[in-house]
Amino acid sequence: MQFEAVIGLEVHAQLQTRTKIFCGCTPAFGAPPNSHTCPVCLGMPGALPVLNADAVDKAIAAALALGCTVHEVSEFARKNYFYPDLPKGYQISQFDRPIATGGQVDLEVDGQAVHVGITRIHMEEDAGKSLHEGTGDPNLTGIDLNRAGTPLIEIVSEPDLRTAAAAAAYFTYIRDVLVAIGVNDGNLEEGSLRCDANVSVRPRGQAAFGTKVEVKNVNSFRYLQKAIEYEIARQSAVVGEGGSIAQETRLFDPDAGRTFSMRSKEEAHDYRYFPEPDLPMLVLAPGQVARVRAAMPELPAARRARFVAQYGLPAYDAGVLTQDPEVAGYFEAVAAVAPAKLASNWVMGDVLRTLKEQDVAIGTCPIAPAALAELLGLVDAGTISTAAARQVFETMWATRESASVIVEREGLTQVGDESALLAHVATVVAANPDAVASYQAGRVQAIGALVGQVMKLTRGTANPKVVHALIQRHLDA
Ligand code: ADP
Ligand code: ZN
Ligand code: MG
Repeated sequence: MQFEAVIGLEVHAQLQTRTKIFCGCTPAFGAPPNSHTCPVCLGMPGALPVLNADAVDKAIAAALALGCTVHEVSEFARKNYFYPDLPKGYQISQFDRPIATGGQVDLEVDGQAVHVGITRIHMEEDAGKSLHEGTGDPNLTGIDLNRAGTPLIEIVSEPDLRTAAAAAAYFTYIRDVLVAIGVNDGNLEEGSLRCDANVSVRPRGQAAFGTKVEVKNVNSFRYLQKAIEYEIARQSAVVGEGGSIAQETRLFDPDAGRTFSMRSKEEAHDYRYFPEPDLPMLVLAPGQVARVRAAMPELPAARRARFVAQYGLPAYDAGVLTQDPEVAGYFEAVAAVAPAKLASNWVMGDVLRTLKEQDVAIGTCPIAPAALAELLGLVDAGTISTAAARQVFETMWATRESASVIVEREGLTQVGDESALLAHVATVVAANPDAVASYQAGRVQAIGALVGQVMKLTRGTANPKVVHALIQRHLDA
């Protein structure tokens, strides 16, 4: 039997606000346990929540960026459950009246169009954390409530995804959008962005969905893909042998590369949701949505399309350059002065590679966009060769000098003058009889090796086109 997977994701994103959602504490990852708490986020009896206005604006921004309808009126609700890291015994969330519904994301995955509906976005508070290590006693579990009350949005997708790769691409898209609009820091490792995957399988051609399993808290894009692939294989095998899938919550073990059962899944009614009596209805101010919309920066997809239209870049370049808003900004600053395709080649190539090799962030790149543009101007004008430009780039990186200063001092101006190059051509031809014989036997490409030798001899200052022509003339004579 052939199976098809059905996948829906629930993404939790911490909103980058200065303070928590219902109190004035600052959230701080990695701070000493319980150092960022107050009676409200500790869940003391009688302490009352006050909604953070900036969290509302950030939830609205996320909703708009994902094409959702933002509701003028929404409502907070209590989600009741017992867990040690939840001091009140309930989480303040939204239930039947979320802040936004009905969005969509359109992607291309492996050449296929993928449409993902967004069911809803709701606001809620994060819980604390249980610390099973570092309490000084292996029999003790500590409770750290620094994270309790951190503002979250939960983005729930429709069960529209069909492959693990599409699910990972969708999650990546959500991350890129939230980071671009400054709503989330995109840090999966620290847990500020988390994803639960709902996965089921059904025989190909069957309309009804199968029973779903929820895989919780997968903290990388690669693990998400692996966890879903594992689930699809596991469930297909069970159903293929005539078995049935238990509705449950599972966890992914990255070391074993498999999921395992955590608990049977609770139903919504188990949470005894009811409207939060300590908060009024959330009623947006007139013009609030329009204000957030007006302040929204360009989204990655729009920027990618603009890079193609405005700079005439291939879609591939536009995709690479817009992955990180700071890289995109750097490129635009270079392309404002230098030819766009040349700028794209250098930013995607030498700049990104060297940043990675040296573990430097683009924000502190030793070569400023204007400095790179000057270097590229020299290449474009034919003043220096690409090979020489590579050397200049390295020196610029190390010394922060300008390109023209280095070119002048090191005598790297391109030599296109034939008479200055003829002697080098003769030397190289005499020293490489094999390449010459190969050329004369009909392997025209053999000339490339000879050009390379002349470039080496001239420390990259020769004009390779002129050298090529000279060698050809020499050999054909
Ligand atoms: P629950 O009531 O268990 O929370 P929901 O209907 O709210 O379930 O859906 C939670 C998530 O599971 C959503 O992202 C949704 O798209 C996804 N989902 C729902 N049904 C299925 C299914 N049969 N297979 C895979 N995913 C599903
Ligand atoms: Zn607090
Ligand atoms: Mg649900």
